[in-house]
Amino acid sequence: MDQNCDADKIILRQPDDWHVHFRDGAVLRAVVKNTASIFNRAIVMPNLQPPITSVEAAFSYRRRIMEAIPDGVIFTPLMTVYLTDDLPIDVIERGFQAGLFTAAKLYPANSTTNSSEGVSDLKEIDSILETMQKIGLPLLVHGEVVDQEVDIFDREAVFIERHLIHLLERYPALRVVMEHITTEQAVQFVEANSSRLAATITPHHLHINRNAMFAGGLRSDYFCLPVVKREHHRRALRKAATSGNSCFFLGTDSAPHLRSFKESSCGCAGIFNAPNALESYAQVFEEEGKLHKLQGFASEFGPAFYGLPLNTGSVTLVRREQVIPEFFEVNNGLGSKEKIVPFHAGETLNWSVLGLKEALE
Ligand SMILES: [Zn+2]
Repeated sequence: MDQNCDADKIILRQPDDWHVHFRDGAVLRAVVKNTASIFNRAIVMPNLQPPITSVEAAFSYRRRIMEAIPDGVIFTPLMTVYLTDDLPIDVIERGFQAGLFTAAKLYPANSTTNSSEGVSDLKEIDSILETMQKIGLPLLVHGEVVDQEVDIFDREAVFIERHLIHLLERYPALRVVMEHITTEQAVQFVEANSSRLAATITPHHLHINRNAMFAGGLRSDYFCLPVVKREHHRRALRKAATSGNSCFFLGTDSAPHLRSFKESSCGCAGIFNAPNALESYAQVFEEEGKLHKLQGFASEFGPAFYGLPLNTGSVTLVRREQVIPEFFEVNNGLGSKEKIVPFHAGETLNWSVLGLKEALE
């Protein structure tokens, strides 16, 4: 399927989201529809509390996700397992053989939301990584060091130098995705190792630089991890995403938090972009003059990396301005409602996704 693209309408092969956080409970039930109504599949992050560290927990989480998909919507959650220092190898093997795990996620301990049980030292998971390499299970990496001596804006670049180079050398056949890259150094490193290293890029890292977090005050809505960087990094990411290079593909890292957890003296990291992620990406590709490269990034390079079939359906974007809501209301599970603020809240995006009914008219 070629991308069909004119000045006012884009018909794309249906995309997938290769990195999303659905959370659990009331938030899960509120947010799944945003992803499921546009994307055919999504790689679901396992950093719940407690994290997904068993086959049974992953099956159960997948069932809760399936129950949250609206009637009539076809969507496949692709499950991941959360690596810990003492995760039994048979969990990896059984989950893989059952067709349940699409990948395993490495969080350096305490690097981001719900990562305290992550890996303290890569040496601790040596035999797990060997097993993954042997059976062909991809490793997804949150690529930041947690060393307090390292400036927060340098943590991704230092992770590459200290850990990722050695990891790729030590496991030459392991397939790796560096998730939500944020720096020029990551772009260059992924390009140089693209035979088996890929990267996801979020909409927010393409739209904002670190000034956004401090524009007129402290803006927790723009706080995420890895934290947004300087403008030249944003430019490098935009160039990479729109390049048509198959080692870069769509992963929103949509990460909802209730308002009360964002507006706090210690606000949570994460940006909720799922409701308008595709339109947000489309705007970037248009601004870069690369709309014709959107389908590869959104719908083709991810399946190719994971060895999964291309989607056969399509989605249609039309040039129709839409104002993004200031917030969504979610039942907080305690009988009252709370807000979740989406990315681009109150802003106008140029493109809109046509509903299925409209698309057929
Ligand atoms: Zn994430």
